[in-house]
Amino acid sequence: MTEFEQRRLSLAAALAGAKVNALLVSSPASVRYLTDYAGSNGLLLVTPEESHFFTDPRYAIEAAQKVTAKTHIAKKPLIEDVAALLKRKKLKKIGFEPAWINVADHQKLKESLGLGASLQPVSGLVESLRSIKSPGEVSKIRKSVQVNSEAYARTLRRVKPGLREQDVAAELDFQMRVLGAEKPAFDTIVAAGPRSASPHAHPSPHRLAGNELLLIDMGATLDGYTSDMTRVCYLGSPTRPIRQMYRAVLEAQLAALDTVRSEAPVAQVDLAARKVLKKHGLEDAFVHSTGHGLGLEIHEPPRIAKKEKVKLKAGMVITIEPGAYVDRQFGIRIEDTVLVTENGCQILTPTSKELVRL
Ligand code: ZN
Ligand code: ZN
Repeated sequence: MTEFEQRRLSLAAALAGAKVNALLVSSPASVRYLTDYAGSNGLLLVTPEESHFFTDPRYAIEAAQKVTAKTHIAKKPLIEDVAALLKRKKLKKIGFEPAWINVADHQKLKESLGLGASLQPVSGLVESLRSIKSPGEVSKIRKSVQVNSEAYARTLRRVKPGLREQDVAAELDFQMRVLGAEKPAFDTIVAAGPRSASPHAHPSPHRLAGNELLLIDMGATLDGYTSDMTRVCYLGSPTRPIRQMYRAVLEAQLAALDTVRSEAPVAQVDLAARKVLKKHGLEDAFVHSTGHGLGLEIHEPPRIAKKEKVKLKAGMVITIEPGAYVDRQFGIRIEDTVLVTENGCQILTPTSKELVRL
């Protein structure tokens, strides 16, 4: 049995708990997780007995090579074939992923259902299976992390005053691909000086100055799996306030990492970072959550945030990324990708966390 068939069996076994007779999987990452199909137009219907995969003729070859579920090559919109099959199979309670279906498709399904059949929203079922990574998935994430860090190291050697933020971002993306990544996992963030105070600044035509902080947040996608890292460096000699805030954020990051282990509540991990920043008078400067899971997508459950109720489990891969931002001055964030283990965590990101001077 392939790992994809095993995953479909695990999902099929979870359907009863979600009180449905079938689940229509429409999240592209979840379809990939369950079938190995990596294209842009695929749907998967999973029942306790069998799975049906739907795609269009452009992907017939890829589907034949990879997908072991019963495959339907649709000439019409996929949802019409799904609807016809549901009717034929006389399935009664059909689960769908509310975050991953549009209103028109939902409407079409609803109209075509037979008497007594209904659609039920089912959230997070495949995502919860996906949150625990297999050894094979961890090794793919490891490779993605390594390529990401190497692309960062190569780029850093070329960074100098006069380059634009855009140039640095382009170099990072180029190096990533040269090293084997399929693409960046998200739009690479390069923010210099006061622009670093926006946690998600996009690279601009701003030219790096001689005495300036540079924040880089980057991730690679390799073999479908993502990585995520943020580092801050300085062109010249960092001022005292910058060095102080850097030390505070690093202390917060290390404190959060220290709490990561199987069965630790995610809220506790978030709190560990927040406590340190509070001690340094920076609690209001930390405007986002402490981290997130990643895998086939760059943001996956669990969210490492104070209001979340879940606990970490061995095999989860998450980021730990506290930050502090002072409007119109600068922002600092330090982010690693880490693997949760029974007794702690393994930091996958190899890049040094010293404040590098360029
Ligand atoms: Zn990031
Ligand atoms: Zn992140």
